[in-house]
Amino acid sequence: MSNVPESIKYVVIGAGIHGLSSAWRLAMELENRKRGSGKDVVVLEKSYAGAGASGIACGCVRNFYMTEPIHAILRHSVDVWTYDPVAFGFQQVGYVSAGEANQIADYERIHQSQNSVGYPSDVYVGEDARKFLKKIWPDFKTEGIDVALHERVSGYAGTRQVIRGLAQKCADHGVQILTGIEVTGYDMQGGQVKAVHTNEGTIKCDLVIWGLGAWTPKHWAMLGQPMTLDCYYPDGSVVKNKDMWTYWRLLEGEVYYDKPYLTADGLNPPVLHVEKMNTPVVDETGRELSDHLYIYYKNGNERMDRPGLQGGTIPVKLGPKATTDPYGHANDEYQAEPEFADYMCAAMAQTMGRFEGIRPNFRERRNGGIGAFTPDNIPIFDWVAPNVYMIADSNHGFKMTGVGKLLAKYLMGDNVPELKPFTLDRFAEGRTFGKSNSHSPWV
Ligand SMILES: Cc1cc2nc3c(=O)[nH]c(=O)nc-3n(C[C@H](O)[C@H](O)[C@H](O)COP(=O)(O)OP(=O)(O)OC[C@H]3O[C@@H](n4cnc5c(N)ncnc54)[C@H](O)[C@@H]3O)c2cc1C
Repeated sequence: MSNVPESIKYVVIGAGIHGLSSAWRLAMELENRKRGSGKDVVVLEKSYAGAGASGIACGCVRNFYMTEPIHAILRHSVDVWTYDPVAFGFQQVGYVSAGEANQIADYERIHQSQNSVGYPSDVYVGEDARKFLKKIWPDFKTEGIDVALHERVSGYAGTRQVIRGLAQKCADHGVQILTGIEVTGYDMQGGQVKAVHTNEGTIKCDLVIWGLGAWTPKHWAMLGQPMTLDCYYPDGSVVKNKDMWTYWRLLEGEVYYDKPYLTADGLNPPVLHVEKMNTPVVDETGRELSDHLYIYYKNGNERMDRPGLQGGTIPVKLGPKATTDPYGHANDEYQAEPEFADYMCAAMAQTMGRFEGIRPNFRERRNGGIGAFTPDNIPIFDWVAPNVYMIADSNHGFKMTGVGKLLAKYLMGDNVPELKPFTLDRFAEGRTFGKSNSHSPWV
């Protein structure tokens, strides 16, 4: 006998961070407004909860983006993280970004925008920046650093823990999570989805939410949506026929470190992110590994069974096609190559004295994962059919946890201005994002 219901009001597809947090917050809103309950919501997951990017990410929660509308969303994400930080494994250690003089104006703009939406941050320039960094990390190599930004409320989450925590929240509110159930197609009538087809039968429904991560392009194609589009930018320029989805391979890894990694005050340090656009990464033999430094790291989350650090660098562009199954660590094609380990360790040693000679401590284990990025590498939150809402986060994941909270309010009929900049019409209306002063695709 099939486990799937014959009909239900809300179908959420994907039990990653977005599917689960949307289902939980939707159940809360339905209850609070006496318009239903979690029993009206089902989450369908083809594998198991956390089988996608959400289960393997580094989990950093930062608000350091040039794209100002992201700043307001992050405030809601921190609300979600701090709703139950223990259940979600959220460590509110803060986040520090450091850069060279050519980034000072960007840092100041980001700082102003963050504070204007109630996301507290401090910016330090010149000698103040170097002093600020040394105060936290006395062995910080501050040569060439001219600016630093400190977000006090950011941090990082435990990736497996947050999936368990969110699944529990769903269960507490009566939401069913059905694993091993794959959505294989949609029954469309008059442009609307009347039912979803699954490997275990058809479910009639009123509304569908996509939390599909790297599988979003597949479902986009199922609905017959265009695979390219024209992107109009605020400066009047246009890029025609841009790929709607581009896959990137993430580069993250873990390094064993035999002492506790702490601040000068003995605390768990903020997530650190250093971009030196004009400084090459050179290893201890003098070999140049890259013409610029871009690294982030922090104490490992629950994936570590020994003390160590987790971090990463800029992802690698794959193109409009990639293999999503098997996903993550199970896919031989997309694992980080040994050069990444060289790069990560050399970059860490270039930022702090304590990491000199750390290369032998790189943990040789699988770290691969891919993501489907949007045309401007900024999330899209919008309807893709009159009753199908898409959360396509362009790999901003853990920072976008607040979207489920906002979406639940929006579905109840509230005005939610934070979501508006991220709709699909931005590409045609000259609101495409994407110009930035960084080597990273995230802007
Ligand atoms: C290696 C790596 C490191 C990262 N590091 C960070 C980080 O430090 N900080 C950060 O904020 N973000 C990070 N990200 C990005 C972040 O992990 C993702 O943006 C986020 O997890 C996406 O969540 P999601 O819920 O949209 O998708 P996913 O977590 O991918 O979930 C999608 C789910 O949908 C299911 N599914 C797919 N097709 C179907 C179907 N037909 N029927 C039913 N179920 C289906 C999948 O099995 C999967 O469980 C990282 C990503 C990777 C890959």
